[in-house]
Amino acid sequence: MNRKFLISSFLTISILMCINDNFISADVIKKTDTQNITVVNKDTHQVNDRNDISQNSQYKTTEKQSYIKYSDKNKITNDKTVNELTYSHKSVNDKKYGQQKINGHWYLYNEEGIMQTGFQYIKDQDKTVYYNEAGQMQYGQQKINGHWYLFSTTNGAMQTGFQYIKDQDKTVYYNKVGQMQYGQQKINGQWYLFSTTNGTMQTGFQYIKDQDKTVYYNEDGQMQYGQQKINGQWYLFSTTNGNMQTGFQYIKDQDKTVYYNEAGQMQYGKQKINNKYYLFNQFNGKMMTGWILLNGVQYYCYSDGHMAIDEIIDGKKLDINGKYIAVKLFVISGHGAGDPGACANGYREADLTRLLAKQIKQLGGNRVLISEYDRDYYQDNGITKLKLPITTSIIELHLDSASPTARGGHIIKQKGTKATESDIKLEKLITKYLPGRSKKIVYRDNLANPKRAMKQGYDYRLMECGFITNKKDVKEFHEYLSELAKGILEAFGV
Ligand SMILES: [Zn+2]
Repeated sequence: MNRKFLISSFLTISILMCINDNFISADVIKKTDTQNITVVNKDTHQVNDRNDISQNSQYKTTEKQSYIKYSDKNKITNDKTVNELTYSHKSVNDKKYGQQKINGHWYLYNEEGIMQTGFQYIKDQDKTVYYNEAGQMQYGQQKINGHWYLFSTTNGAMQTGFQYIKDQDKTVYYNKVGQMQYGQQKINGQWYLFSTTNGTMQTGFQYIKDQDKTVYYNEDGQMQYGQQKINGQWYLFSTTNGNMQTGFQYIKDQDKTVYYNEAGQMQYGKQKINNKYYLFNQFNGKMMTGWILLNGVQYYCYSDGHMAIDEIIDGKKLDINGKYIAVKLFVISGHGAGDPGACANGYREADLTRLLAKQIKQLGGNRVLISEYDRDYYQDNGITKLKLPITTSIIELHLDSASPTARGGHIIKQKGTKATESDIKLEKLITKYLPGRSKKIVYRDNLANPKRAMKQGYDYRLMECGFITNKKDVKEFHEYLSELAKGILEAFGV
């Protein structure tokens, strides 16, 4: 019996002995590749690398059974059923199983002793880890197949969800398979934005170019919708796509129209928009309409919100700043609208009354209102249509017409009214600059406008500023134009 035969016999016996324990003691085995170990006998002529095989090692069997055939040249073949002879390395030499720490690196070997690489799920620790090509567990940030991953620096567990990368001071997001995400991402029903270059979660205002919209992400990186107060300013974002709104917006549940500037911020107080002025409530930004009292000043805004400027609304004169300043004096220039009035000495009455009216307006400012130049308040019954406060005084300007020698100005009052303090002052003014008439204040009952004014309740007088037919009066009218205007204003306390 040669040695090989003896070994073979021993092997067979050993196999048979150990089957029940699922372990065998092998003396002769052949390594067919790095994973499989085949038990052979001497006659297969395959035992050529037995030096590689250690003796008395234990191998774990698999469940599968297979057939082992061994024979002798001159003997009957003996068939034995044994367990599958591809066995996993249990503890023999360089063979290792499961997780192994070698030279400071963790490795993973499967049940067949094969070193594992790539992503591996460690069930009993419920973690996914990654082994590089050398089989070493990886830690921290790793770029694998074009994707960035994060592995625990302590146990290599692959991280998912939001993660703060301290040394880069950024929050990033890893999806369920551990890959860092970029751009717009919907996560748990919320929209987020991650840098397309380094995955940093974005916060604050962000312009989404391809959608041409500005949106806002809160501190947690979530896109915001509807009305939002940010850094003390109110903004409005679309409830559907988060797009920041600008311009006029109607807030239905608050029943208010508000205005957001180009930066999306709600505006308050007086605002110039498209060359028109608007007033917004100081506290809630509500666009105001109608008559508005603001800081003791009255304004008027139309239903579309734009402020009335240099207009009369409800009889109230609004100045060029939209402020209502009570008009003290309303000046009617006699004639006009096709009626030149009296014409003499190269002048037309309608032109001269307007010349004086302009002078009064120029000196009197906002507290003086003058009739429209293209109107004839006599013809169009202007006084009846006036909507001035009843406290407004009216002076209607004319020039007399008679023989060239008649001269001097005078005041005409409606019969039934009384000369006021203003009338007395006007009487003195006439006496000083346009003297000539014995009666400076005349009461009449046959003129339309004085009657209309009385009916309306206005403090009214008609002033004849000398005779247009008298050369001296016309000359002095021009010469003392400024003095006449000043005197008229003074008479009404302007
Ligand atoms: Zn006249």
